[in-house]
Amino acid sequence: MAALRNAARPDIRAARRLVVKIGSALLVGGEGLRTGWLKGLADDVAAARGRGTQVILVSSGAIALGRRVLGLPAGALPLEQSQAAAAVGQIRLARAYEEALAPHGITTGQVLVTLEDTEDRRRYLNSRATLETLLGLGVVPIVNENDTVATDEIRFGDNDRLAAQIAVTVGADQLLLLSDVDGFYTANPRQDPAATRFDVVAEITPEIEAMAGDAVSGISKGGMRTKLLAAKTAVAGGCAMAITEGSVDRPLDALAAGAACTWFLGQGDPQAARKRWIAAMKPRGEIRVDAGAEAALRAGKSLLPAGVTAVAGRFGRGEPVAILSAAGAGLGKGLVRYTAEEARAIAGRRSGDIQAILGYPGRAALIHRDDMVL
Ligand code: GLU
Repeated sequence: MAALRNAARPDIRAARRLVVKIGSALLVGGEGLRTGWLKGLADDVAAARGRGTQVILVSSGAIALGRRVLGLPAGALPLEQSQAAAAVGQIRLARAYEEALAPHGITTGQVLVTLEDTEDRRRYLNSRATLETLLGLGVVPIVNENDTVATDEIRFGDNDRLAAQIAVTVGADQLLLLSDVDGFYTANPRQDPAATRFDVVAEITPEIEAMAGDAVSGISKGGMRTKLLAAKTAVAGGCAMAITEGSVDRPLDALAAGAACTWFLGQGDPQAARKRWIAAMKPRGEIRVDAGAEAALRAGKSLLPAGVTAVAGRFGRGEPVAILSAAGAGLGKGLVRYTAEEARAIAGRRSGDIQAILGYPGRAALIHRDDMVL
C-alpha cells in the first residue's frame, strides 16, 4: 500500500478535458443556493479555460433546489415528488450557472441525460457528438440527469456515476468529484478514527473495494461505494479521477495548490481505452471497402460511403461492424453511423448525394475515425 500512496499525483492544471462533478450539498445550503461558493467555482472554471482546459460541469442540486421552492418535507421523497422537484429546481440550477459564468464571457449549455443515453449505442454517439460540438464552440456544458423522466429502473440515481459516464463518453482525461469528504479512506473516517486517506490509488483491487463502506451524507445521493463505481468506470476509460472536499472557496485552485484528495489513476489514455472498448465488441455485420478507401483508413481517415463496395448483415446505427478489404481480409472494426439498409443504399456514392438518396441529410462518414480501430 505504501507504494500506492507515493505514486505521482496528476496535476489538474494539466487537464486537457476536465469533468467536474458538483454535489447538491455544495451548491444548496440551509439558505438556498450558495451563490458565493458558486462564484468561486466560476472563477476556477474561467482559470482552467484560460489554461486551455475544456470543462464540463455535472451538477446535482435540481431536487434540493426544487423541494425548497415547493416546500416539500425533508428526507427521501416519493419518486413523483422528486421528479416534480427536479422540474422546478433544474431551471433554477441552469440559470445559476449561466449567471455565474456569464461575467467571465463563458456561454453555458444545459444537457440532460438518462442512463439510456449512455447505454444505447446510437444515443451514446448522439450525446457524444452534441457534447463534442458544444466544447468545440467554447461552451461549458452543464449536465444533470433528466430526473423528470427517469424512473427508478432506468436512472443512474447518483451523479457520481453519471459524471464518470460523461467523462468516458467525451474522452476526458480528468474527472474531479467535489464532495463532502476529502478523499478515499481505508475505512469510514467518521466511524473509525484510525482510518487513513489514500493520496493515489494506482489500481482498484478487491482490497480497495472492500474498504468502501456505504457512507451517505445528508442530501447527497452518492456514498463511497458509488464513488468507487465511478472511479472504476473512469479509470477503465483512461480517465484519472480525484475526490476532494469541495466546500472550500475555489476548490480547483485549492486542489492545484495541494489540498488533500485521492487520485485514482487512469489506465492508459482515453483514446486507447476507447479503441480497446470498440475492439472488444462483436461485429453485427461486414462492410467491404475498395483499395482507395483502405489506403485512406490506414492514413487515419474516416470511412466514407464512396469507398464501400458491399454491406452484409443486419445492424442499427451505432452498432459495431467489421471492415473488410477488397480481398475480404479483416482490416478492423468500427461503430457505423447508418443502419445496414441505409449503408447499402449509399454504398459507393458520394457523401454529397446522401440527402438525395435517403431523403434526409446524414453524417458524411459511414464510420468516423474516432469510432474505428484497425
Ligand atoms: N440529479 C439529482 C439532482 O440534481 C442529484 C443526484 C445526486 O445527488 O447525485 O438533484
